[in-house]
Amino acid sequence: MPFRTEEKEIVCAVCGESSVQTVVAEFDPDTSTPDLDMRPNGEHRSYLKYWVSECPHCGYCNASIDIPVRFTREYLESERYNTVGGSGLAEKFMKMSLVCEKNKVYEEAVKACLFAAWYYDDEKDKEKAAECRRAALRIYDLHRAEFAANPDMILLAAELMRRSGDFERVIREYKGRLLPSMLLIALENFEVALAEKKDSACHRADEAPRVAKK
Ligand SMILES: [Zn+2]
Repeated sequence: MPFRTEEKEIVCAVCGESSVQTVVAEFDPDTSTPDLDMRPNGEHRSYLKYWVSECPHCGYCNASIDIPVRFTREYLESERYNTVGGSGLAEKFMKMSLVCEKNKVYEEAVKACLFAAWYYDDEKDKEKAAECRRAALRIYDLHRAEFAANPDMILLAAELMRRSGDFERVIREYKGRLLPSMLLIALENFEVALAEKKDSACHRADEAPRVAKK
């Protein structure tokens, strides 16, 4: 078992009610090479479901429900929040994404949609996974200035475009674009080469030419 969970009573930052939540108490470090979107291997991915908690009283979803918010409880009752889409774990991640966007933590908002996509990847639901990646891209595009100095996120956006089938955009925006390290440029060139082949499949980072295998 690469991780251990425990039950913890947590007070919700939105409604003030407490509930018992399962949290990851400790985990073995993941030393394997991740996929291009940083998705960990199957064993480490099996605790994805503990990366989001939901308050059973008000529906607040976040990495932990004791994280303070910049909105009132009414937002959790809004149509936008309750019709965000997705099912099961993916729905919780999509709600977490809305919460993070409201809280102005945009990188987490993008990544919560990506985690929802990983759920659908494992469910082998390609179309829903692509929808979640497009939702992640919408947040990236809406708050582009926030990511301008974050080359890891700029590269992740290329991966989100490619995996959701927008090959043209990857080629248009990334071919020849200068990123600040040789590793990032090697990964970027790999994304462009895959896009030129119209390849939307999952690939690992160490498949990229000139990226050292571990
Ligand atoms: Zn609550």
